Amino acid sequence: MNIILMGPQGSGKGTLARQIIKEFGLPQISTGDLLREQMKKETELGKLAKSYVNKGSLVPLDVILKILQDRISRKDCKNGYILDGFPRSKEQAEALKKIAKIDAVIVLEIPSDVIIKRILTRRVCSSCGEIYNTSSYSDPTCKCGAPLYQRDDDKSEAAIRNRLEIYDRETAPLVDFYSDRVYKLDGSGSPAEVYARAKILLKDLEARK
Ligand code: ADP
Repeated sequence: MNIILMGPQGSGKGTLARQIIKEFGLPQISTGDLLREQMKKETELGKLAKSYVNKGSLVPLDVILKILQDRISRKDCKNGYILDGFPRSKEQAEALKKIAKIDAVIVLEIPSDVIIKRILTRRVCSSCGEIYNTSSYSDPTCKCGAPLYQRDDDKSEAAIRNRLEIYDRETAPLVDFYSDRVYKLDGSGSPAEVYARAKILLKDLEARK
């Protein structure tokens, strides 16, 4: 089963995807994580992506496609995967159509005032990538022992605003592009509450396969 997780920045896509991995065994493919990995290793692709990522702009299609194709061709993706953060535009959705069949698009819905607060208080583990929020977890280290950090693009209000604008303008219209397989999900509440809603939907999709 190939699933797209859609929703504005801070809506909880990454958190939800990590829970789905545990129970459904589908790997999460986050284009943002893949880009940060390249940036950390200072590869050519990473260097190229950095200026876009830190401004909160979309990385060019050829760069993102190269990273994505490489990832979905790996063995762990043969029974399906969850795309988190891709596609973000009609151009990307058209490109995806040529390389994958998408079964369902889950759209997380959340009020915009909650979003900004969630992004500003988000922290990420520098080792395992687990996502935390300072409002519910004040420890500076992850449960795995590694230090937590705040992403550069989460520190800049201008970058946050830019990402949200791109979401409204380019990504949100994809709901119509995938209208025959879109499932809207209430993204408010705790991670456990959101996951409980998603689980019902995923079980249902699995049974229909
Ligand atoms: P967020 O959803 O909070 O913006 P991500 O980790 O998904 O965080 O993405 C971080 C940044 O990585 C984006 O702002 C953008 O610069 C780049 N990026 C991620 N996915 C894509 C994509 N599909 N197309 C272009 N750029 C992307």
